[in-house]
Amino acid sequence: FISGLMMRLTAQTPADEKQYVGFATLPNQVHRKSVKKGFDFTLMVAGESGMGKSTLVNSLFLTDLYKDRKLLNAEERINQTVEIIKHTVDIEEKGVKLKLTIVDTPGFGDAVNNNECWKPITDYIDQQFEQYFRDESGLNRKNIQDNRVHCCLYFIPPFGHGLRPVDVEFMKALHEKVNIIPLIAKADCLTPNEIKKLKDRIREEIDKFGIKVYQFPECDSDEDEEFKQLDKELKECTPFAVIGSNTVVEARGQRVRGRLYPWGIVEGMHTHIFHVLENQSHCDFVKLRNMLIRSHMHDLKDVTCDVHYENYRAQCIQEMTSKLAQDNRMESPIPILPLSTPDVDTEKLIKMKDEELKRMQEMLNKMQQQMHDKEQ
Ligand code: GDP
Repeated sequence: FISGLMMRLTAQTPADEKQYVGFATLPNQVHRKSVKKGFDFTLMVAGESGMGKSTLVNSLFLTDLYKDRKLLNAEERINQTVEIIKHTVDIEEKGVKLKLTIVDTPGFGDAVNNNECWKPITDYIDQQFEQYFRDESGLNRKNIQDNRVHCCLYFIPPFGHGLRPVDVEFMKALHEKVNIIPLIAKADCLTPNEIKKLKDRIREEIDKFGIKVYQFPECDSDEDEEFKQLDKELKECTPFAVIGSNTVVEARGQRVRGRLYPWGIVEGMHTHIFHVLENQSHCDFVKLRNMLIRSHMHDLKDVTCDVHYENYRAQCIQEMTSKLAQDNRMESPIPILPLSTPDVDTEKLIKMKDEELKRMQEMLNKMQQQMHDKEQ
C-alpha cells in the first residue's frame, strides 16, 4: 500500500516536490499541541529563613507569591519543624501558559537542633514520586497531575567561608532525588573579589564531598560560537551569586529591577546607590533567570523524569519484588503493578488456601446436614 501511495505521490507532484510527504510539519503540530496544553514546572526553594528566597522567586517570575505570609518570631522558630508550603500561579506570556508551582520550605535550618532537618523535604520529594508511580500504574494514566519537583534552588548564606556542615548534609540528602542548583544568597553583601573566592571555595567543597549538583548538558559541537560562549559562561558561574528585589528603580534613564540603599548623608540629603539586578556584572541573577526559564527548563524536567524518577521507580520495584519473595504475599503501598507470572511459592500458597477453603466448605455442609436431620 505504501509503495503504491509513494508511486502515486511521485506521479502526481511536480518533480521538485516529489519527495515531500508532509512530516516536516510535525514540529509545528507538537508545538501547537504543547502550547494549547500549557507547561508546568515545579521549583523548590530551600535555605534558612531571611535568605531572600521569597524575594528572589518574586523577582524571577515577576509575581507576588507571598502576600499573605506569616513571619515567625525567634521563640516560635526554636522548635519549628520544616513546613512545606506550595504556591501555584498561572503565568501567561505571548499566549504560552506556564503553571508554576513553588515549593517553599520555610523552617529549614532555623531550629536550634537541625539534626535531619532535611527529612521532611526528602519525604516530600519521595511522596510526589510515589503519587506519580501510583497514577502511572493506575487506570487513568492520561490525566496524571505531575507534582514531581523539577529543581531545587539551595540558598547558601554569603557570610561564611564556604559550605556549612548543614549545607553539605542537606545537598547530600537530596542530590539523588532532585536537580540541585546552589546559589549564594544576598550577593550584594560581598565585593566581586569576595564573590569569586566564595564561589571557588564552594565549587571545591562540592567536589570534595562528592555532592552531585545539576550538571548542565554538554553543548552540541554544531552550535554557533555565541551559543557555545554563553554555555561556557553559564557553567563557569555556578554557584550563581544572586540578589533579589521587587523594586523597580530608575537607572541610566531606564526602569530596571534593583535594590535601593540609603548611602551616607551629603549636606542633609540622601544619596542613593543602586544595585542593579539586570546589570550582569553585579550578579548572576539574569544568568539564573535565563537558564531556568529560557534555556534549561526542559532539560531540568527531562533529568527529573529520566534520572531521578527512574531511580525511585527502579528502587521501588526492587523493594516490592524482594518483599514479595520474602512474604509470599503481595502487600505493598503501591498497588496494581502487573506482575509477570506468579512464582512457585506463591502458587503453592494459593493451592494450600484453596484446599483449606474446600475443607471448611465441607465442614459447613456437614453441620447444615446434621441440623437439618435434627429438625426432622
Ligand atoms: P526568605 O525568608 O528566605 O523568604 O527571605 P525574604 O525574601 O523574606 O527576605 C528577607 C529579608 O532580606 C527582606 O528584608 C528582604 O528585603 C531582604 N533581602 C532579600 N533579598 C536580598 C538580597 O539579595 N540582598 C539583601 N541585602 N537583602 C535581601
